[in-house]
Amino acid sequence: MSGASGIFKAIESGTKHLVIRRFTLRYPEQKLKFVGDGYQFDPKEGVGIAGYKGRHILYHDKCTGCQLCAIACEGIAEAIGMVKIDKTWKHNKKSIMPQIDYGKCVFCGLCVDACPFYALFMTDDYELAAYTKEHLIYTPDQLAVKVDYEGNVEIKIDDQGATHG
Ligand code: SF4
Ligand code: SF4
Repeated sequence: MSGASGIFKAIESGTKHLVIRRFTLRYPEQKLKFVGDGYQFDPKEGVGIAGYKGRHILYHDKCTGCQLCAIACEGIAEAIGMVKIDKTWKHNKKSIMPQIDYGKCVFCGLCVDACPFYALFMTDDYELAAYTKEHLIYTPDQLAVKVDYEGNVEIKIDDQGATHG
């Protein structure tokens, strides 16, 4: 490619981007709006329901402390540890529930698939930055809190690709 045609190519390529809508968001002022509640498991169909794989939510009233989530995670990331809880539940004789280390979790969702009691799901929450490694470890009490994720920018997908409003 000669010098002149190279310059023309560069100008053509740059000009194209003047009319293509920008996809980058001005985070944190703008956040993408997710569809659905995050990754869940559908007991009727026996398959995962597509959704964003963000921070988990743990339903204490369903968790039996069976540890199957921790066993599923063992070969993946060893991010789940079973810890003692203060509360007593009839259905959780050992009084243990999972805590998750988000410094290790790879957000695969296998723990959600493994939970036979539908006590563990994933949410749209991805804002997990912390100053220390210890703050990335979420106790059963922290996992019980569902953060309301407020996305304000809708994604639009057409044959030209993905854009946002
Ligand atoms: S989503 Fe995280 S905690 Fe669950 S199995 Fe995968 S790595 Fe482990
Ligand atoms: S979250 Fe589910 S798999 Fe994990 S200990 Fe509780 S009931 Fe068992």
